[in-house]
Amino acid sequence: MKFSEMEYTRPDIEEVKLRAEKICSDLKNADSASEAEKAFLEWDRESSHLETMMSLAYTRNTINTLDEFYEKEVEYIDEVSPLFAELDLRFTRILTESRFRPQLEEKYGTLLFKNAELQLRSFSPEIIPETQETNKLETAYQKLIASAQIDFGGEKRTVSQMQPFKQSTDNDTRRKAWLAEGEFYKENGKELDDIFDKMVVLRTKMAKKLGYDNFVALGYLQMTRNCYGPEDIDRFRKAVLKYIVPVAERLFKEQAERTGMEYPLSFADAALKFSDGNPCPSGNSDDILNTGKDLYHELSPETSEFIDTMFSCGLMDVLSKKGKAGGGYCTSFPDYKLPFIFSNFNGTSDDVEVITHEAGHAFAYYMARDIVPSSLQSPTLESCEIHSMAMEFFGWKKSKEFFGDQADKFRYSHLFDAITFIPYGTMVDHFQHIVYERPELTPEERHGIWAELLGKYMPWLRLDGSAFYGEGKGWQRQLHIYENPFYYIDYCLAQTVALEFWVLMQSDINAAWQQYMKLVRKAGTQTFTELVETAGLGSPFDEAALKTVSEAAVKWLDKNRI
Ligand SMILES: [Zn+2]
Repeated sequence: MKFSEMEYTRPDIEEVKLRAEKICSDLKNADSASEAEKAFLEWDRESSHLETMMSLAYTRNTINTLDEFYEKEVEYIDEVSPLFAELDLRFTRILTESRFRPQLEEKYGTLLFKNAELQLRSFSPEIIPETQETNKLETAYQKLIASAQIDFGGEKRTVSQMQPFKQSTDNDTRRKAWLAEGEFYKENGKELDDIFDKMVVLRTKMAKKLGYDNFVALGYLQMTRNCYGPEDIDRFRKAVLKYIVPVAERLFKEQAERTGMEYPLSFADAALKFSDGNPCPSGNSDDILNTGKDLYHELSPETSEFIDTMFSCGLMDVLSKKGKAGGGYCTSFPDYKLPFIFSNFNGTSDDVEVITHEAGHAFAYYMARDIVPSSLQSPTLESCEIHSMAMEFFGWKKSKEFFGDQADKFRYSHLFDAITFIPYGTMVDHFQHIVYERPELTPEERHGIWAELLGKYMPWLRLDGSAFYGEGKGWQRQLHIYENPFYYIDYCLAQTVALEFWVLMQSDINAAWQQYMKLVRKAGTQTFTELVETAGLGSPFDEAALKTVSEAAVKWLDKNRI
């Protein structure tokens, strides 16, 4: 089915409600396991259909924001989606309490029920007022950041428009850009502090209402942490400090030497990886797409079929055009069992990442498309990111075709980013643990904690007292800290597993691929730790995983110094 031929019809909320009520009562009053199963499958089809309609509306709206029809549909969906969520919760509750649960567990596995219980434990109608208040604060944060009019180079610019200048190879431009952006955050520091302070109070209140000591437990439930807890994360953190921070330090020392900068680096100078700029793709967007096609044709019969489907059904919209929304994402249309990739090519290495990272997500969905129920098609978020981050490394197979004579530089740069991200991401998570364990901290004390963590996790940075960043307040530009508590560690765990795949690829790419496929095939039927085991890799919660990764990285860097 071509994307252009997929049919959208507005889901009628009243009808959905009636059907949901019928399905709920069918499940409640089921006299046999097969009757219960019938209701279970019916709800799965109902929610898959709703998801397809929502996904179609959002996708078509982002492809052309000037199209009024989908603009209105998205408005409608935003309005009714909390009601759908409520119906789903009602169904979930009845499902977990069903007397035929053992039979359903026997057929569909226990994980689905375990996740459902975590979902139920993270919610109660009692916390609706605080949830609404928190949503308002999230919007306030977004608005404040979006309101930025940073005076730079004779023009007013937004935070995202400042990005290229913050990476400029011209020292003066880059340093001034960091200062100008830092000034914006500094000027709004009081409001940024207030918004976050209120969030901490509200989240703590919600946790207490649900019977938890503080927000950490609730945050974990909201992230569906079904196989690890704070103690495991604590072990991971220690391994990051022991094995990854030293390699990252080495990388930044090499960078300082290469670029002739003073070490430890200022924030602005840490952003300059190469004096002559970051590696750039050698061809145009068509070349990148064609190389992507070749990559997937060569990797395996499954990826070959996948990429041909993506192209023949028009499931990729990657070129920038008038009226198109910004950013990039991967979504799916369950009714048609097909994924979709949205992005805006910009001529940088990000374009290659679309064809590896986003396509990694899309491929995982494509492989899981026949799994019933649909909730088992995709695992928890850290595991989804393994699909994409490991695929980025499989993309090395074509680095020559993607980057021409800059292929070595690209590989070095990719490994550099993967390694150095882990300490930063782990620090973001560590910060959140402290903040929610000690909700009474003042904003000033929170800044102090961030500055202290910086010294441990990112010792290559110099707090030189310059506005905002240099004062150790940079956490306020990390959207996830405000809007998606405890999400950040997922990227670090996934990156660790992706790097374990990278280690295997160095000696035997085919074996690495077979292990990757084992993990992908399990889709959402296993937990994160089970998936890692299925792939034959070491758990990131065991320090041996990061030790192996760091040793292999050092070996590779010794041979491939740039
Ligand atoms: Zn991703």
